[in-house]
Amino acid sequence: MEDMKQILLELIELQKVDIVILNLENEKQELETKIIENQEKIKNIKLEFENKKKKLDETRKKRNMLEMEIKSKEQDIKKKEEQTSMIKTNEAYKVLQEEIGAIKKDIQILEEKIIAIMEEEEEINKWLKEQEKIMKQEEEKINKIISDYKQEISEKNNLINQENVKREEMAKKVNKNWYERYERIRKNKGGIALVPIEMQGKGNAICGGCKMTVRAQAVIDVKKCKEIMACENCARIWYIEDNV
Ligand SMILES: [Zn+2]
Repeated sequence: MEDMKQILLELIELQKVDIVILNLENEKQELETKIIENQEKIKNIKLEFENKKKKLDETRKKRNMLEMEIKSKEQDIKKKEEQTSMIKTNEAYKVLQEEIGAIKKDIQILEEKIIAIMEEEEEINKWLKEQEKIMKQEEEKINKIISDYKQEISEKNNLINQENVKREEMAKKVNKNWYERYERIRKNKGGIALVPIEMQGKGNAICGGCKMTVRAQAVIDVKKCKEIMACENCARIWYIEDNV
């Protein structure tokens, strides 16, 4: 029978390395999230730019249509002016002139619309020009941030690899049965398989994992280290700080 205290000590040392790895993995995860957030930022900036460009295309199309409409109305005027020479009565002449006047008024309204659209186009063009510069700078800035994060991730990966090498060596030395049990609890309990019994004064003690009360006899047994004891509630293996 291997010394229980020795096994417990080895498991505690193993857990220290596992916690270092766990923290590194969490930090890596945070960096990866930040990269995604920054990539999202670039995407949104580009999307805004593309939407403005689309808007410019739309205004151009609208303007072309209005220009075509004016041309067609100018044709109408031309036809009516040609008819003028064939007109016999003053009455008919007056009607035709009124019709021509009405079309001219329509054309004027269309021209005003075109001017408004051109002003809008000018504004969009100005925005696009300015934004293109800003966008490039912003993209460069964000890409730099992303590459810094990637660098940090690669450093974390190196550390994780180093710790894993260390861990493997330690794991080999631990009693096989207890190692397997440790691994099982660790995977089920968010990375922490060993917890201290927390003394609360007046002989009261709680499990450092689930905070359930620990019986006095159990505290004594853990102190004696005759056998390794686990919490009945959360299954984590107990130890007493400064005792091991
Ligand atoms: Zn517990």
